[in-house]
Amino acid sequence: MGTGRSSRFSSLLVQLRLAVLGTAALGFAAAAVATIQLNRQVLVRDHLHRAAMAAEPLVARLNAVAASPQPADLSELRRDLDRQSRRGPLFWIRLPDGRRLLSRPLEGIDRASLDAVPGGTGDRPGPVTTRTISNHRYLVHRHHRSSDGTDLWVAEDVNEPWRALVRLLMDMLLIWLGCLALTLLALTLLTRRIIRPLRELNRMAAAITTDTLATSRLPVDGAPQEVQDLAEAYNSLLDRLAHTWDHQRSFVSAVSHELRNPLTIISGYLRLLQRRGGSLQPEQLRALATAEAETHRITRLLNDLLDLSRSESGRLELLPGPVAVDEILLMACDLARSQLARRLELRLPKDSTDQPVMAIAEADRLQQVVLNLIENADKYTPDSSAIVVELVRERGVDSRPGVAISVSDRGIGIPPEDLPRIFERFHRAPNALDRARGSGLGLSIVSLLVEAMGGRIEVESLLGKGSCFRLHLKAPEADELGKATGDGPPPQ
Ligand code: ADP
Repeated sequence: MGTGRSSRFSSLLVQLRLAVLGTAALGFAAAAVATIQLNRQVLVRDHLHRAAMAAEPLVARLNAVAASPQPADLSELRRDLDRQSRRGPLFWIRLPDGRRLLSRPLEGIDRASLDAVPGGTGDRPGPVTTRTISNHRYLVHRHHRSSDGTDLWVAEDVNEPWRALVRLLMDMLLIWLGCLALTLLALTLLTRRIIRPLRELNRMAAAITTDTLATSRLPVDGAPQEVQDLAEAYNSLLDRLAHTWDHQRSFVSAVSHELRNPLTIISGYLRLLQRRGGSLQPEQLRALATAEAETHRITRLLNDLLDLSRSESGRLELLPGPVAVDEILLMACDLARSQLARRLELRLPKDSTDQPVMAIAEADRLQQVVLNLIENADKYTPDSSAIVVELVRERGVDSRPGVAISVSDRGIGIPPEDLPRIFERFHRAPNALDRARGSGLGLSIVSLLVEAMGGRIEVESLLGKGSCFRLHLKAPEADELGKATGDGPPPQ
């Protein structure tokens, strides 16, 4: 789950979208905050201006009271407060002894909220604060302090402009949300367009195989510059790889060719020596047999390498046609028996003596495949149990008639985790490594040949119990049989 999440966020497309959306949302939020601040500043400026105009006579009066030695006439002050409060802003006075003189409209309101307003220090006006008093928005501030410590306070009802401001903000929010949705839509389309060449590049790069290395080139036209640069770098890498691959193939092919002839000669001499070696000691004969077996093994390896290099350069040409599989199996088993120290059982369909079991294959290559499977069965079966080769007629997946050849053993088996990989080149299961020598090439050649003959191969295996390799070949159609024999289809 964690991997899925991290991989979703590691996508360039998702990151691009998140980055642009995040920036846009941040921009809109900043614009919203700035708009609120600006509008509030305008409200405060207007309030200060109106308060200053209305407060002028009151300020003059308070200064006069402060300068006079007589105590202030509170009822007169109260009248002044009421008069000035009729013009908009509402005034009240806090006397040096802490008493409060409220103008009439202020008498009914919640006084505690007035007390909570910070008054500021010194003679300068205090900061303007927004307060909700009795469900109304007020701008409140201390406007003036006279020399005897009397403060003049102002509160202005800004409910209407405040609601207009909130309405404006709501409208803007809706507009912004609409813009954000449009941005998201445009962004989705744009990013998809920007990313498309990268996706294409990825798709094409994933489709490149060793067979298509020399011909595959990634497209560079029409993509953004960075992607073009990447594609060009990739193409030049492909060129170098194809070149090296070609060299390596030619080298393997040349070496295999060069070594095959001397090995055939050595093997011939070794056989001759063994046949005419009447005067040789038994251990000398054993040494000759070992040398011949090793020569045979190396020749097989060279042949496998040659097949592999031919298939990679497209030169492994098979000409599959109708062949009598039962005859090929008889021959292969005879050949194998001459090399094996164990029993090899061949089971053929009962009617094969009257009617050959035909399939589409190439005789030599089919024999090579079967011998390879028998050799593996022998190699990976430590005890002396028999190997069974069985041929059956069957109906394929497409219900076309066909044949199945199985080679079963009761050997070491293949670990389940290695089963999907044993047909890969050079792959060897760990339980096989110390059992027998091998190159890990045999089964990859087997599957290559079976596929080239239009068939398929599968394996069933239980660790410690044994393995069964089964290859399926198509039976020839009636007209293919006619072509092969030069006359019409055989009587059924
Ligand atoms: P090699 O035998 O040279 O290692 P192969 O390509 O023939 O290479 O086989 C690949 C691997 O498949 C072997 O190394 C072994 O692990 C496994 N394998 C093949 N045939 C058998 C078998 N009959 N029983 C058990 N393991 C097998």
